[in-house]
Amino acid sequence: MSKSPYDVLVVGSGAAGLTAALTAASDGASVLMLTKGHAPDSSSWHAQGGIAGAIGDDDTAALHAVDTERAGRELCRSSAVRVLTEEGPERVHELMSMGVPFDPELNLEGGHSRRRVSSVNGAATGWAVTSLLGIRAAAMDSISTREATNVLGLWVADGRCLGALTPDGPIAARTTVLAMGGAAALWSRSTNPEGQIGDAIAIGFAAGAAVADLEFMQFHPTVLAGSRLLLTEALRGDGATLLDASGERFVEELAPRDEVSRAIVAIGGAFLDLRSMDRVRFPGLMAEIEKAGFDPATQPIPVSPAAHYTIGGIVTDLDGRTDLAGLYAAGECAATGVHGANRLASNSLLECLVFGRRAALAALGEAAAWTHRAAEAAPRLAQQLQAPTSPAVRVASPELCEQVWRQAGVIRDPALLAQLAASPDPVASLVARFALARLESRGVHYRIDAPTTNPAFEGHFVLRPGGDLTLEHWT
Ligand SMILES: Cc1cc2nc3c(=O)[nH]c(=O)nc-3n(C[C@H](O)[C@H](O)[C@H](O)COP(=O)(O)OP(=O)(O)OC[C@H]3O[C@@H](n4cnc5c(N)ncnc54)[C@H](O)[C@@H]3O)c2cc1C
Repeated sequence: MSKSPYDVLVVGSGAAGLTAALTAASDGASVLMLTKGHAPDSSSWHAQGGIAGAIGDDDTAALHAVDTERAGRELCRSSAVRVLTEEGPERVHELMSMGVPFDPELNLEGGHSRRRVSSVNGAATGWAVTSLLGIRAAAMDSISTREATNVLGLWVADGRCLGALTPDGPIAARTTVLAMGGAAALWSRSTNPEGQIGDAIAIGFAAGAAVADLEFMQFHPTVLAGSRLLLTEALRGDGATLLDASGERFVEELAPRDEVSRAIVAIGGAFLDLRSMDRVRFPGLMAEIEKAGFDPATQPIPVSPAAHYTIGGIVTDLDGRTDLAGLYAAGECAATGVHGANRLASNSLLECLVFGRRAALAALGEAAAWTHRAAEAAPRLAQQLQAPTSPAVRVASPELCEQVWRQAGVIRDPALLAQLAASPDPVASLVARFALARLESRGVHYRIDAPTTNPAFEGHFVLRPGGDLTLEHWT
């Protein structure tokens, strides 16, 4: 166990974790950043198309907000959308001033009414941003980093989070920020790195935090068949078309992701035609496609949907606060309500920057207050209560992931969801329970037995440990 508590323990080193760690450390806090794998194991590292932000001459935060709310299908929490879109431009400009080599032109992506997506080399945005933030974090003495450290649970005593439980024992912290990413790798067909199986949801809920919106898994429509290689929307923004088996277009390429995904599933798979677009703008992606054995200059590429982005997660307010004192969440593992029932493309890296920073600032405020009251007593108290032993490692077997794909996929059948609800895996079971409760189709959640939207479900399903699912209205 660490001797004295850190001010802020950050779990995860993707865009949200790095932003939180850098924000806290810049304000003088002692920070420990833990991560399950290594830097390339985060979704942030793999993010391609870019970061949304109303920085173009013809754009405003209000227009960005309208597009975000439209994609979210009457379910976006308007206050969160305002924060995201109004603070977004400043966060993007900060990255520019740090030296992220953004391309000169803004990209257009599905659901956006303006060119507002900043990218690096067409599709290397995540790598460029996280590696630069990682270099800055490594240069700060007040940030310690431990890789290959699997957080298995949270250390809770006296109604307060005191840190995290790892295979090497508990780690004490005045405040803990979960930035552990999503759960999409729990689906066998996924764009996410293998470790992204929703550990934050499992450990946060087990520790007493509320979770919400878990029925909303966003599927990305264009993932190279048989692989995790995502073929970014920016390709379609630049003129790539989707073709059926007879070479005909069958869907509006820049329609929201859920519509494109269902259209592809309905015909059993599709082909992305990159032949007549300017492929030179996406050098890394073209190289990956060729490595997989396809020639984008001469043949349309086979694609189908894969689980991509976890809209739900641990419930937080606009400053990352969860229900549990001392515990914060930001980035993909948090449910702020900002994405409603469908995330607008490229809003998630922005979410990490905006809400990662806000969570760190709020955690710092709490850490300072806590120092004067009970910071030093807390670990002692917990020791008196017996330092908790770490729970077992949570593993997602290929069989479980296959089951989640079949039973909670793009098009959902209540009989299959009911089978999944009985899964011993806490996250698989929660996803199914939420999807069963939402007896309608909205955004990314589509039920074969209830294919239309029902205004009675205009709200967020929330589950608190020991309670029942309730539908809440967030403003
Ligand atoms: C292929 C791909 C392309 C994408 N493209 C875009 C895009 O162009 N624009 C956009 O806005 N979004 C994009 N996204 C989504 C976006 O990348 C993510 O939503 C965002 O990066 C999430 O960041 P995060 O910091 O919340 O989590 P992540 O970046 O996923 O980081 C999670 C961190 O938590 C750690 N962790 C997880 N579990 C544990 C544990 N038990 N113990 C310790 N550490 C743990 C991980 O190791 C990792 O360091 C893309 C995603 C993918 C997969």
